[in-house]
Amino acid sequence: MNHQDTKGIKKVRRLGRIPAFFVSLCLGGSIFFAVEPTVSGGAGGTALLKWTYRQDQAQVPILQGLDHKAYLPLLDTANFYGIQVDFDPLKRRVILSKGKSKAKLVLSQEVLLSGDPEAPLPIDPVEMVQGQLAVPVGSAGDLVAAVLNLNVRYLPEEGTLLAGGIQLEEVRREILAQAATPPTPLPRSEPTRVVAIPTQRTLGTPTPSLLREPRPSQLYQVRRIIIDAGHGGHDSGAKGRSFGTMEKQMTLDIASKVSERLERDGSLTVLMSRKGDRYISLKDRTQFANRHGGDLFVSIHCNSNPNRKVSGTEVYYYNAQASNKLASMSALRENAETDFTPFILVDLLNKKYRDRSHYLAERMAESIHRKLSQHRRNTQRGPFYVLGAVEMPSILIETAFLSNKEEETKLRDPYWREKIAKAIAEGILDYRADMEKIDGNRQARR
Ligand SMILES: [Zn+2]
Repeated sequence: MNHQDTKGIKKVRRLGRIPAFFVSLCLGGSIFFAVEPTVSGGAGGTALLKWTYRQDQAQVPILQGLDHKAYLPLLDTANFYGIQVDFDPLKRRVILSKGKSKAKLVLSQEVLLSGDPEAPLPIDPVEMVQGQLAVPVGSAGDLVAAVLNLNVRYLPEEGTLLAGGIQLEEVRREILAQAATPPTPLPRSEPTRVVAIPTQRTLGTPTPSLLREPRPSQLYQVRRIIIDAGHGGHDSGAKGRSFGTMEKQMTLDIASKVSERLERDGSLTVLMSRKGDRYISLKDRTQFANRHGGDLFVSIHCNSNPNRKVSGTEVYYYNAQASNKLASMSALRENAETDFTPFILVDLLNKKYRDRSHYLAERMAESIHRKLSQHRRNTQRGPFYVLGAVEMPSILIETAFLSNKEEETKLRDPYWREKIAKAIAEGILDYRADMEKIDGNRQARR
């Protein structure tokens, strides 16, 4: 404790030029290091800071802002991840840095993280909360991730900020646990567990298929792939800002190329939710996937954002809570077309597939980053209808931004589309290989 305390003070001395106000603020922050944490878990007003691949962890208080939002103390959090914080109270500027990696923020201002100039990411502002710099829990992951260049996510159920990729081991444990537990009946009416996209309407009775347990084959085998080309027909999706490129055409072309590549593997059945320029509702897409008993669902889209600078590929898996503002904007846009009757039980239902969907998303993001040196954002969570309503691991890929001139140019290039299709197909094959490995280990133990 003493050791940490001194460290905190040393840090303040290093920033010696700055006004007394800031020094006292830093000391205020460091007091938390001196307090022995007594509450365990996330519910008692503390959060855990962790790595997936390191043992050390720390506990920080969850602060409540005047806006009633939950915040993490910025200095403590940054300190744990080895990030330096510089604060200029006059200009209200906060700079987080580690090595060459930097994120510049302005207090109380929603900003685009400028850690990577090619892919700014809007996050909720850093604020002064209870006398110290604090970051909203929902933005903490993105902020730390931007500086560490790692996947960092806040897990609300566990009250944990976790840095590092999702590991095969976690997925393995989840799958084994699932195989070991006998199916439990789903609660039919439990209002608190009902999570849906905000709406007045509700779905009547869930179809019997919605309450089915995963087929055993789905746990380990990846044989039947559903490729979903976003939009179509009168729904042309996003439109390019510079050349008027239509999302529906790009998605169909990329989806067809992915299918061709996967079919070459010889052992997969590939089904496309649409093959031509045809309108298909989101509900019909999910029903198509469920009816054909897919083992994986991959939906392909192009992104768009009012901010023309935003660029990069994003891979999403389903969660009722979007991981950040950009994610909720994308989900809103992709859900906008729908005639769908919003869904009850979907969140609960989808939990069965969430870990594998997350893992698939990680594999996919890796593959796309590797093949295209396309900027890699963290995999994101979002309330995408198509992902929530399919009974299989599912992801949605926002290949690139049509609102960004450079990316629209890439999307218009058939060679680039071929490359991203190849990366997507390989991401799927990587995932399959990992699942087969898990299955092999499981069989060997019998
Ligand atoms: Zn779309």
